Amino acid sequence: MSQPELSLVIPCYNEEGNLHALVKAVHDAVDPLGIEYEIVITDDCSQDNSWAILKELATKDPRLRIQRFEYNCGESAASWAGMQWARGRYLCTIDADLQNDPRDLPKFLDAVKRADCICGTRVQSRAEGDNFIRIASSRIANAVRRKLSGDEKITDAGCTYRLFKRECIANVKFWRGAHRFLPQLIEMEGFTIAEVPVSNNPRFAGQSHYGVWNRLFKSFRDLLGVRWLKSRQLRYRVAETKN
Ligand code: UDP
Ligand code: MG
Repeated sequence: MSQPELSLVIPCYNEEGNLHALVKAVHDAVDPLGIEYEIVITDDCSQDNSWAILKELATKDPRLRIQRFEYNCGESAASWAGMQWARGRYLCTIDADLQNDPRDLPKFLDAVKRADCICGTRVQSRAEGDNFIRIASSRIANAVRRKLSGDEKITDAGCTYRLFKRECIANVKFWRGAHRFLPQLIEMEGFTIAEVPVSNNPRFAGQSHYGVWNRLFKSFRDLLGVRWLKSRQLRYRVAETKN
């Protein structure tokens, strides 16, 4: 296969109830666009039937590439391993639970003509798919993040539905929890960022892997780390050279 235009990169942990619908929704949305694409799913050592379902789906579907971790490594690791394995010119990270709607992809593909990395924002659609606790904790987390990181451009840092040119991540150093900060890390590499509004569906099946504690508080330490990293970034401009 020549290099696909697009790789959908999906981390998966205990998503057995979502996988058939997810793969179908991606095909339904991307087939009409007439581009070469692949779906890369990393099973983060699910305890349920996810891996068996993925293997069955992949047997009939050459566009579906799957890998499974030896043990549960977390969303950042699963997402990063998928990005590294993906072959597309553009990479699009998307959740396995159908909260992100593949029908928003044309908007991303259009926007990426104007910037290197496009982030989905659920700010306008929040009320559609989420309960009060999720909306409130996400709002607080986003407000704190924006304040502390000084990054006004990214209104919904917690939304991991993003599409970017593969070169954006060539020199990024990823770490546990970094999936929440990927746009900032990409921006630090000198790439441009833009946002598109996305719809926000309720989780199709299963449960969220995060509660208020790990959504709000655990990522606070990471936020301070990113803030420090940004403040200490090397800046220089060479004025003249010889030989
Ligand atoms: N996920 C994963 N490993 C984990 C936890 C989550 O691969 O240890 C995946 C999960 O299957 C989903 C994505 O990461 O595709 C985001 O998780 P979730 O939907 O629970 O997060 P939320 O949308 O509630 O923030
Ligand atoms: Mg989700």
